[in-house]
Amino acid sequence: MSVVPAARRMNGSGLTSERTRARMIERLRAEGIVEARVLAAMAAVPRHIFVDEALAHRAYEETALPIGAGQFISRPYAVARVLELLVAGREAGRVLEVGTGCGYQAAVLAQLAAEVYSIERIRELAERARANLRPLRLANLRLVYGDGANGLAAAAPFDSIVVAAAAPQVPQALLAQLAPGGRLVLPLASGRSAQRLALIERRRNGFVEKALDPVRFVPLKAGTR
Ligand code: SAH
Repeated sequence: MSVVPAARRMNGSGLTSERTRARMIERLRAEGIVEARVLAAMAAVPRHIFVDEALAHRAYEETALPIGAGQFISRPYAVARVLELLVAGREAGRVLEVGTGCGYQAAVLAQLAAEVYSIERIRELAERARANLRPLRLANLRLVYGDGANGLAAAAPFDSIVVAAAAPQVPQALLAQLAPGGRLVLPLASGRSAQRLALIERRRNGFVEKALDPVRFVPLKAGTR
């Protein structure tokens, strides 16, 4: 990990500067992201402080990057698309994120939502995310180490749930912890490599599910390590 103080990395010039971030936002707009709140939130979060220093110069590229423990930070478009689905036409409210990873998407969510809980099953990543997020001082973000497939009963119900790892089926606990009118966005695996983003809404008379874009996420795994 980096030995450069986080504050200095955040003020970095060149490839990690505010201008580079602004170009990423323009690119997302060109790719079809229209939700202003999502673009503003992504413009506010320094993505390069969430990856290893050796990769920081690539942080704003349209690519996934390794974050340790065999996991990846999603490419910017994937983050923008998921969050746009979550907030379109509504407020995000109280949010649960399953799969903190490096903490980047959690930081973006914290700009958008009233309250965010983010849970990670790999201790090494949960600890690193905490260190990455510390300089941002996000008072409305809580990090939890645990198996997010069980949701987070202690803080339920949630207006929004977003899952950053793909499962063959929607975990029942997540449906149960979704508030009335709530929205769940997650990648669902169908077969060996195919995945689709699913948007699930809890209506008065049940759950409505929509299958959307083909995507590629790491698998949702059980237990902690
Ligand atoms: N949102 C993250 C993406 C990380 S990749 C970011 O911005 O970096 C998905 C993460 O989901 C990985 O860190 C993986 O360890 C985690 N994950 C997989 N299954 C999980 C589970 N059951 N509970 C919590 N986290 C899980």
